[in-house]
Amino acid sequence: MIEVNDVNKTFYLGDSAVHALDNVNLRIEQGDYLSVMGPSGSGKSTLLNMLGLLDRPDTGSYWLNGVNTMSLDENERARLRREQIGFVFQSYHLIPRLTARENIELPLVLSGVAARQRHAEVGAILDKLGLAERAHHLPNQLSGGERQRVAIGRSIVMKPSVLLADEPTGNLDTRAGREVTDILEELNQGGITLLVVTHDSAMGDRAKRHIRMVDGAITSAHRAQPGDGYPASA
Ligand code: ADP
Ligand code: MG
Repeated sequence: MIEVNDVNKTFYLGDSAVHALDNVNLRIEQGDYLSVMGPSGSGKSTLLNMLGLLDRPDTGSYWLNGVNTMSLDENERARLRREQIGFVFQSYHLIPRLTARENIELPLVLSGVAARQRHAEVGAILDKLGLAERAHHLPNQLSGGERQRVAIGRSIVMKPSVLLADEPTGNLDTRAGREVTDILEELNQGGITLLVVTHDSAMGDRAKRHIRMVDGAITSAHRAQPGDGYPASA
C-alpha cells in the first residue's frame, strides 16, 4: 500500500523555482495498475522518483507498506528501495559491459545471494521474458525491446511489491512496445503494483486507474470503467 499526503517538491535553477510536485495526494492499493499522463515537465518523473525513493519530497509524507519513508536515513531508504521497488526507465539504464544475464543478476549479487540460487532465479526470469537465447549477449547486441525486457528482469529479480515504469515504451516501435506492455501487465496480474508513465494514450487507457498531471499537480484520477480496455474483473 502506498499513501502520499500533501507532497511538495520544488527545484531551484539559478533564480527560478519549479514546483515539480504541487500538493500531491495519492493512495494506491497493493496490486493496482495506474497510468500517469500529462505534458512534458508536468512532474510525472518527479512523482515516480519520489515513489521509488530516488528523490525526497520537501514537505508531506510518503508511507510505503506501513513504513513512514520520511523518517528513514539514506541507508534505510536504499534498503527499502532494493527490497520493495522495481524501476524501469525509457532508456533501459543497463550496464554496457555486463551480459543480459549479468544485468538481471546484479541486484542479487549486491544483496549477497549465493551463486547457485542466483543462477536458478535468473534462469527462470530469462525464460519468462523470452530472453533465454539472449542470456550471454551484451546490451549493444540486443534490440530495444530485448534491452527493455532485460531491464524489466533486473527490476523484478528482488521480487518488489511495486514496479515503476517511466515511459517504458518511449524508445520502442509499436510491436516491441506492445510486448513490453504485455509483460508489465502480466507482472501486475501476478500481484505487483504497477505505475506506468506514458505519452501513449492507448497504453495509458489500459490501466485500471488513470492519473493526469499538470504543473506538478494531479488534476484528475479516475478508475477505468468496464469496457475501457482492461478486464473489468482483474
Ligand atoms: P515530466 O516527467 O512530466 O516531463 P519532470 O518530473 O521530469 O516532468 O519535471 C518536472 C519539472 O521539474 C520540470 O520543469 C523540470 O524541468 C523540473 N525538474 C525535474 N528534475 C529537476 C532537477 N533535478 N533539477 C531542476 N529541475 C528539475
Ligand atoms: Mg519524465
